[in-house]
Amino acid sequence: MSDAAAPPRGGTWDAVVVGGGFYGACIAAYLVRQRGLERVCVVEREPRLLSRASFNNQARVHNGYHYPRSFTTAFRSRVNLPRFVADWPDAVKRDFTKTYAIARRNSKVTSRQFVRFCREIGASLRPADEAVASLFAPRLVESVFDVQEWAFDASVLAAWAREELARCGVEVRLSTRATAVRRASEHELVVHVESGEEGVRTPGGATAAEDILVTRLAFNCTYAGLNQIAGDFGGVRTGLKQEITEIALLDLPHPLRDIGVTVMDGPFYSMMPFPARQLHTLTHVRYTPHLQWVDRPGIDPYGRLSDYEGGTRAAWMLRDVARYMPGIADASYVESLFEVKTVLMKNEANDARPILFESNADLPGFFSVLGGKIDNIYDVLEELDAYAL
Ligand SMILES: Cc1cc2nc3c(=O)[nH]c(=O)nc-3n(C[C@H](O)[C@H](O)[C@H](O)COP(=O)(O)OP(=O)(O)OC[C@H]3O[C@@H](n4cnc5c(N)ncnc54)[C@H](O)[C@@H]3O)c2cc1C
Repeated sequence: MSDAAAPPRGGTWDAVVVGGGFYGACIAAYLVRQRGLERVCVVEREPRLLSRASFNNQARVHNGYHYPRSFTTAFRSRVNLPRFVADWPDAVKRDFTKTYAIARRNSKVTSRQFVRFCREIGASLRPADEAVASLFAPRLVESVFDVQEWAFDASVLAAWAREELARCGVEVRLSTRATAVRRASEHELVVHVESGEEGVRTPGGATAAEDILVTRLAFNCTYAGLNQIAGDFGGVRTGLKQEITEIALLDLPHPLRDIGVTVMDGPFYSMMPFPARQLHTLTHVRYTPHLQWVDRPGIDPYGRLSDYEGGTRAAWMLRDVARYMPGIADASYVESLFEVKTVLMKNEANDARPILFESNADLPGFFSVLGGKIDNIYDVLEELDAYAL
């Protein structure tokens, strides 16, 4: 590894953004457009932007309904959804019926509580039409509501990111992994990177090319990788939990093809259109999380995922869903998306999704960012607005 005192090969930057997911792309564009920075570099370990959690997720543009246990998260979703829809109209799919169903047994919320909660957060709902309600087994489902919740197309967001970063003149280094960050002087950080696809996939392999980037500001937008950058950064102060998750992709028959379903609030399931593949996603509270651990520096979540040999649980998901929604029996299972999901440990019980935004006293100019859902980007940018950069 190069010494911090060595002459900079990778150049000097106004800001280096580590992680080319939705958050890294938005922050890089913000730094140029809103804060007037000129030399911004994005470093992404994968060969494409937005190819990890920002693609492998359930694509729900949250509108509050999902969070009866966290008023703040529900409320922030209500505030952020209209902004997201205004900023990325082409990425938002609205031409489907979204339903929330309340299970008769094992639900943490009753129909009456759910209705009251939606009223409190100002989210509209009405009893679903008979044609939709009749898709559910009345023995297990107490009520079905028609709500306003949409899906986003991750491939449209990825195309936006590529084009927007090019328009902003941001240098994007793909297949490049940040390995360490060090403090070089009072106002300078050095980010160590390794490039080359093989080097990235087999750390320590001889093919990796090392480089150093000198910068005033660095943003750690690596989601599952937040704690894996070494050097003078000891990790974030907030406890993180990592989960290997499975999302099943389904080709659905009519009329299921035109709806999205979330059964509240307990060991149930959620099915959403997945516009990037023109399929539906299916997640199940019991079967989607495969493996969990408390995040620590040195345990690479991406390595754990690629070493993971657990097979799909789609058949279990489908069998359970068929009890609530018999028509799912005619669905074709296509494949599963496996991804690491990162959540704040403090929110495990209430399922809230606040942002993590940490500066670092030992590394002035180094920020770590994690958004629990796509629309939280606005909360992150509001935090950044408060900083003199
Ligand atoms: C199973 C699942 C379901 C979800 N469902 C929803 C949903 O329905 N709605 C919603 O709003 N949100 C959902 N989310 C959350 C949402 O996906 C995330 O909030 C969002 O994608 C985070 O964006 P990001 O840019 O921080 O992460 P990512 O897209 O993962 O970007 C981080 C990037 O950093 C790169 N990276 C990591 N380490 C390094 C390194 N050392 N050097 C260089 N690059 C590095 C990674 O390759 C990655 O591309 C879900 C997440 C999961 C996992």
